[in-house]
Amino acid sequence: MIVEVKIDYDKCQGCGECYKTCRYGVLEWLDDQPIVVSPNKCGKCLECIEKCPAKAITLKLDKY
Ligand code: SF4
Ligand code: SF4
Repeated sequence: MIVEVKIDYDKCQGCGECYKTCRYGVLEWLDDQPIVVSPNKCGKCLECIEKCPAKAITLKLDKY
């Protein structure tokens, strides 16, 4: 299972909620924006998506 965590930077408001919420080390914080560093660590908890006020995060699960 490959997990793709995508952040739409056109929508992102830079609030930091996703970064603070993720307990799995998927996201880092760089230049006032979240960046996806380790998508394969994603625990699929969906908490970043629930916390994002801008609906800027999507999770895609690909089965191979
Ligand atoms: S779904 Fe959960 S584990 Fe995956 S990036 Fe979002 S907060 Fe982190
Ligand atoms: S929670 Fe959403 S709006 Fe806030 S920094 Fe993360 S992606 Fe951007």
